[in-house]
Amino acid sequence: MSSELRWDALAGAWVAIAGARQGRPNLPEGDCAFCVGGIEAPEAYDVKAFANRWPMFAPGNPVELDPAVGHAPAHGAAEVVLYAPEHEASLVSLGPARVRRVIDLWAERTQALLQRPEVAYVLVFENRGADSGATIAHPHGQIYGFPFVPPVPAREAELAARDGCALCAEDPDERLVSQRGAWRAYVPYASAFPYGLLLAPDEHVASLGELGSDRRDELAELLVDALGRLDRLFDTPFPYMLWIHPGVHLHVHVGPPRRAAHTLRYVAAGEVGSGTLMNPVVPEVAAAALRDA
Ligand SMILES: [Zn+2]
Ligand SMILES: [Zn+2]
Ligand SMILES: [Zn+2]
Repeated sequence: MSSELRWDALAGAWVAIAGARQGRPNLPEGDCAFCVGGIEAPEAYDVKAFANRWPMFAPGNPVELDPAVGHAPAHGAAEVVLYAPEHEASLVSLGPARVRRVIDLWAERTQALLQRPEVAYVLVFENRGADSGATIAHPHGQIYGFPFVPPVPAREAELAARDGCALCAEDPDERLVSQRGAWRAYVPYASAFPYGLLLAPDEHVASLGELGSDRRDELAELLVDALGRLDRLFDTPFPYMLWIHPGVHLHVHVGPPRRAAHTLRYVAAGEVGSGTLMNPVVPEVAAAALRDA
Protein backbone atom coordinates (compact mmCIF):
# COMPACT_ATOMS: atom_id res chain seq x y z
CA MET A 1 0.00 0.00 0.00
CA SER A 2 1.38 3.39 -0.91
CA SER A 3 1.31 6.27 1.55
CA GLU A 4 -1.50 8.77 1.51
CA LEU A 5 -1.98 12.34 2.64
CA ARG A 6 -5.23 13.01 4.44
CA TRP A 7 -6.56 16.41 5.38
CA ASP A 8 -7.53 16.73 9.06
CA ALA A 9 -10.42 19.17 8.73
CA LEU A 10 -10.63 19.64 12.52
CA ALA A 11 -6.95 20.62 12.92
CA GLY A 12 -6.47 22.11 9.45
CA ALA A 13 -3.37 20.05 8.65
CA TRP A 14 -2.19 17.34 6.29
CA VAL A 15 -1.39 14.00 7.93
CA ALA A 16 0.76 11.40 6.17
CA ILE A 17 -0.79 7.96 6.55
CA ALA A 18 1.90 5.39 5.84
CA GLY A 19 0.54 1.97 6.78
CA ALA A 20 3.20 0.14 4.76
CA ARG A 21 5.91 1.39 7.14
CA GLN A 22 4.56 -0.88 9.89
CA GLY A 23 6.19 -3.71 7.93
CA ARG A 24 9.68 -2.32 8.56
CA PRO A 25 11.94 -5.03 9.95
CA ASN A 26 13.71 -4.68 13.28
CA LEU A 27 17.03 -6.06 12.11
CA PRO A 28 19.16 -7.97 14.60
CA GLU A 29 22.38 -6.30 15.75
CA GLY A 30 25.34 -7.50 13.70
CA ASP A 31 23.24 -7.67 10.54
CA CYS A 32 23.34 -3.96 9.77
CA ALA A 33 21.81 -2.90 6.45
CA PHE A 34 24.03 0.19 6.38
CA CYS A 35 27.42 -1.43 7.02
CA VAL A 36 29.49 -2.14 3.89
CA GLY A 37 28.17 -5.40 2.45
CA GLY A 38 24.74 -4.81 4.00
CA ILE A 39 21.60 -4.78 1.91
CA GLU A 40 21.62 -0.98 1.45
CA ALA A 41 25.39 -0.60 1.05
CA PRO A 42 26.80 -3.42 -1.08
CA GLU A 43 29.83 -1.35 -2.17
CA ALA A 44 32.43 0.55 -0.13
CA TYR A 45 31.41 4.15 0.53
CA ASP A 46 32.45 7.30 2.30
CA VAL A 47 29.10 9.10 2.54
CA LYS A 48 26.04 7.86 0.70
CA ALA A 49 22.41 8.79 -0.02
CA PHE A 50 19.75 6.45 -1.38
CA ALA A 51 15.97 6.19 -1.66
CA ASN A 52 14.30 4.99 1.54
CA ARG A 53 12.98 1.43 1.14
CA TRP A 54 10.15 2.31 3.55
CA PRO A 55 9.27 5.79 2.33
CA MET A 56 6.85 8.21 3.95
CA PHE A 57 6.82 9.98 0.58
CA ALA A 58 7.20 8.04 -2.66
CA PRO A 59 8.22 9.48 -6.04
CA GLY A 60 5.35 10.20 -8.41
CA ASN A 61 3.63 12.84 -10.43
CA PRO A 62 2.74 16.04 -8.64
CA VAL A 63 -0.83 16.17 -7.42
CA GLU A 64 -3.10 19.04 -6.48
CA LEU A 65 -3.33 19.10 -2.67
CA ASP A 66 -6.86 20.32 -2.15
CA PRO A 67 -8.29 20.29 1.41
CA ALA A 68 -11.75 20.16 -0.14
CA VAL A 69 -10.90 16.80 -1.70
CA GLY A 70 -9.37 15.64 1.57
CA HIS A 71 -6.84 13.09 0.38
CA ALA A 72 -4.03 12.59 -2.14
CA PRO A 73 -1.22 10.14 -2.78
CA ALA A 74 1.89 11.11 -0.73
CA HIS A 75 4.08 11.94 -3.68
CA GLY A 76 7.39 13.48 -2.72
CA ALA A 77 10.72 11.94 -1.80
CA ALA A 78 12.33 10.07 1.08
CA GLU A 79 16.03 9.31 1.25
CA VAL A 80 18.48 7.91 3.77
CA VAL A 81 21.90 9.54 4.25
CA LEU A 82 24.74 7.39 5.59
CA TYR A 83 27.34 9.50 7.38
CA ALA A 84 30.13 6.92 7.44
CA PRO A 85 30.80 3.20 6.92
CA GLU A 86 31.80 2.74 10.60
CA HIS A 87 28.85 1.32 12.56
CA GLU A 88 29.91 2.92 15.87
CA ALA A 89 30.61 6.40 14.51
CA SER A 90 28.64 9.57 15.19
CA LEU A 91 28.79 13.10 13.82
CA VAL A 92 30.96 13.91 16.86
CA SER A 93 33.43 11.06 16.40
CA LEU A 94 33.76 11.70 12.65
CA GLY A 95 35.27 15.11 13.25
CA PRO A 96 34.84 18.29 11.18
CA ALA A 97 36.53 17.16 7.93
CA ARG A 98 34.23 14.18 7.53
CA VAL A 99 31.13 16.03 8.74
CA ARG A 100 31.89 18.54 6.00
CA ARG A 101 31.34 15.74 3.45
CA VAL A 102 27.98 14.99 5.06
CA ILE A 103 27.04 18.67 4.77
CA ASP A 104 28.04 18.69 1.10
CA LEU A 105 25.85 15.64 0.50
CA TRP A 106 22.92 17.26 2.38
CA ALA A 107 23.28 20.33 0.13
CA GLU A 108 23.58 18.29 -3.05
CA ARG A 109 20.55 16.07 -2.30
CA THR A 110 18.45 19.08 -1.23
CA GLN A 111 19.09 20.80 -4.55
CA ALA A 112 18.51 17.61 -6.54
CA LEU A 113 15.17 16.89 -4.82
CA LEU A 114 13.96 20.48 -5.26
CA GLN A 115 14.37 19.99 -9.03
CA ARG A 116 11.54 17.45 -8.93
CA PRO A 117 8.12 18.93 -9.66
CA GLU A 118 6.49 16.93 -6.85
CA VAL A 119 8.82 18.36 -4.17
CA ALA A 120 8.03 21.75 -2.59
CA TYR A 121 10.17 21.61 0.55
CA VAL A 122 13.16 19.53 1.65
CA LEU A 123 13.69 18.67 5.29
CA VAL A 124 17.06 17.16 6.27
CA PHE A 125 16.92 15.52 9.68
CA GLU A 126 18.41 12.96 12.05
CA ASN A 127 17.00 10.92 14.90
CA ARG A 128 19.91 9.86 17.05
CA GLY A 129 19.38 7.04 19.54
CA ALA A 130 16.46 4.73 20.24
CA ASP A 131 14.82 7.38 22.46
CA SER A 132 14.50 9.52 19.35
CA GLY A 133 13.01 6.71 17.30
CA ALA A 134 16.12 5.58 15.41
CA THR A 135 15.62 1.91 14.50
CA ILE A 136 19.19 1.36 13.26
CA ALA A 137 22.22 2.44 15.31
CA HIS A 138 24.47 3.02 12.27
CA PRO A 139 25.15 6.78 11.91
CA HIS A 140 22.61 8.10 9.45
CA GLY A 141 19.99 10.72 8.84
CA GLN A 142 17.05 11.14 6.53
CA ILE A 143 15.66 13.55 3.99
CA TYR A 144 11.97 14.13 3.27
CA GLY A 145 10.90 15.96 0.13
CA PHE A 146 7.42 17.27 1.00
CA PRO A 147 4.85 17.95 -1.72
CA PHE A 148 3.89 21.09 0.26
CA VAL A 149 5.69 23.48 2.60
CA PRO A 150 4.98 21.89 6.00
CA PRO A 151 3.43 24.02 8.76
CA VAL A 152 6.49 24.53 10.98
CA PRO A 153 8.79 26.13 8.35
CA ALA A 154 5.75 27.79 6.72
CA ARG A 155 4.97 29.51 10.04
CA GLU A 156 8.60 30.60 10.44
CA ALA A 157 8.54 32.12 6.95
CA GLU A 158 5.22 33.88 7.61
CA LEU A 159 6.55 35.46 10.80
CA ALA A 160 9.79 36.56 9.11
CA ALA A 161 7.80 38.18 6.30
CA ARG A 162 5.56 39.97 8.81
CA ASP A 163 8.04 40.95 11.55
CA GLY A 164 11.49 40.70 9.94
CA CYS A 165 14.06 37.97 10.45
CA ALA A 166 14.19 36.81 14.08
CA LEU A 167 17.61 35.20 13.58
CA CYS A 168 19.20 38.40 12.23
CA ALA A 169 17.85 40.18 15.33
CA GLU A 170 19.02 37.43 17.73
CA ASP A 171 21.51 38.28 20.47
CA PRO A 172 22.06 35.04 22.40
CA ASP A 173 24.25 36.71 25.03
CA GLU A 174 24.31 34.42 28.11
CA ARG A 175 22.57 31.68 26.11
CA LEU A 176 25.52 31.42 23.70
CA VAL A 177 27.18 28.01 23.92
CA SER A 178 29.88 28.16 21.25
CA GLN A 179 30.89 29.84 18.03
CA ARG A 180 32.88 28.93 14.91
CA GLY A 181 33.42 31.79 12.48
CA ALA A 182 30.03 33.13 11.40
CA TRP A 183 28.14 30.24 13.01
CA ARG A 184 26.82 30.33 16.56
CA ALA A 185 25.23 27.61 18.70
CA TYR A 186 22.93 28.81 21.46
CA VAL A 187 19.99 27.76 23.58
CA PRO A 188 16.91 29.55 22.22
CA TYR A 189 15.30 32.16 24.52
CA ALA A 190 12.08 30.13 24.54
CA SER A 191 13.61 26.70 23.98
CA ALA A 192 10.89 24.06 23.70
CA PHE A 193 13.44 21.34 24.53
CA PRO A 194 15.58 20.75 27.62
CA TYR A 195 19.13 21.39 26.37
CA GLY A 196 17.74 22.33 22.98
CA LEU A 197 20.12 24.15 20.66
CA LEU A 198 19.86 26.33 17.62
CA LEU A 199 22.79 26.70 15.20
CA ALA A 200 22.68 29.61 12.78
CA PRO A 201 25.11 31.77 10.81
CA ASP A 202 25.12 35.51 11.47
CA GLU A 203 24.60 36.03 7.74
CA HIS A 204 21.11 35.90 6.23
CA VAL A 205 21.70 32.88 3.98
CA ALA A 206 18.67 30.80 2.93
CA SER A 207 20.06 27.34 2.25
CA LEU A 208 23.00 24.96 2.55
CA GLY A 209 23.50 25.30 -1.22
CA GLU A 210 24.18 29.03 -0.83
CA LEU A 211 26.79 28.46 1.89
CA GLY A 212 30.36 29.00 0.73
CA SER A 213 33.12 26.54 1.51
CA ASP A 214 34.36 28.39 4.62
CA ARG A 215 30.86 28.59 6.07
CA ARG A 216 30.34 24.87 5.49
CA ASP A 217 33.60 24.12 7.29
CA GLU A 218 32.48 26.29 10.19
CA LEU A 219 29.13 24.52 10.38
CA ALA A 220 30.96 21.17 10.43
CA GLU A 221 33.16 22.34 13.30
CA LEU A 222 30.21 23.74 15.21
CA LEU A 223 28.11 20.59 14.81
CA VAL A 224 30.96 18.46 16.17
CA ASP A 225 31.46 20.90 19.04
CA ALA A 226 27.80 21.36 19.97
CA LEU A 227 26.75 17.71 19.72
CA GLY A 228 29.93 16.72 21.60
CA ARG A 229 28.85 18.98 24.46
CA LEU A 230 25.52 17.13 24.69
CA ASP A 231 27.40 13.81 24.94
CA ARG A 232 29.80 15.16 27.57
CA LEU A 233 27.10 16.89 29.61
CA PHE A 234 25.81 13.61 31.03
CA ASP A 235 28.76 11.44 30.04
CA THR A 236 26.57 9.30 27.77
CA PRO A 237 25.75 9.29 24.05
CA PHE A 238 22.88 11.76 24.30
CA PRO A 239 19.93 11.12 21.97
CA TYR A 240 18.72 14.03 19.91
CA MET A 241 16.46 15.04 17.07
CA LEU A 242 18.16 17.34 14.59
CA TRP A 243 16.54 19.09 11.68
CA ILE A 244 17.61 21.78 9.24
CA HIS A 245 15.31 24.63 8.21
CA PRO A 246 16.23 26.27 4.92
CA GLY A 247 13.95 28.84 3.34
CA VAL A 248 14.45 32.15 5.12
CA HIS A 249 17.57 32.25 7.33
CA LEU A 250 19.18 28.82 7.36
CA HIS A 251 19.36 27.20 10.80
CA VAL A 252 19.72 23.85 12.52
CA HIS A 253 17.46 22.80 15.41
CA VAL A 254 18.67 20.23 17.95
CA GLY A 255 16.05 18.85 20.34
CA PRO A 256 17.03 16.18 22.86
CA PRO A 257 14.13 13.95 24.02
CA ARG A 258 15.61 13.61 27.54
CA ARG A 259 15.70 16.09 30.41
CA ALA A 260 18.51 14.37 32.33
CA ALA A 261 21.11 11.64 31.72
CA HIS A 262 18.61 8.79 31.46
CA THR A 263 15.27 10.50 32.03
CA LEU A 264 12.89 10.88 29.12
CA ARG A 265 11.01 14.11 28.85
CA TYR A 266 7.46 13.22 27.83
CA VAL A 267 5.47 15.42 25.54
CA ALA A 268 2.12 14.42 27.00
CA ALA A 269 -1.56 15.36 27.08
CA GLY A 270 -1.24 18.84 28.55
CA GLU A 271 1.26 19.73 25.86
CA VAL A 272 -0.15 17.88 22.85
CA GLY A 273 -3.65 19.02 23.80
CA SER A 274 -2.66 22.65 24.08
CA GLY A 275 0.14 22.96 21.56
CA THR A 276 2.18 24.60 24.33
CA LEU A 277 5.34 22.77 25.28
CA MET A 278 6.69 22.90 28.83
CA ASN A 279 10.44 22.85 29.31
CA PRO A 280 11.68 21.94 32.80
CA VAL A 281 15.23 23.26 32.17
CA VAL A 282 15.77 27.05 32.17
CA PRO A 283 17.55 27.98 28.90
CA GLU A 284 20.22 30.14 30.62
CA VAL A 285 21.01 27.27 33.01
CA ALA A 286 21.17 24.81 30.10
CA ALA A 287 23.52 27.13 28.20
CA ALA A 288 25.88 27.48 31.20
CA ALA A 289 25.96 23.69 31.62
CA LEU A 290 26.69 23.16 27.92
CA ARG A 291 29.44 25.80 27.93
CA ASP A 292 31.12 23.94 30.81
CA ALA A 293 30.71 20.48 29.23
ZN1 LIG B 1 26.21 -0.60 10.50
ZN1 LIG C 1 18.16 36.60 8.91
ZN1 LIG D 1 13.32 26.58 12.40
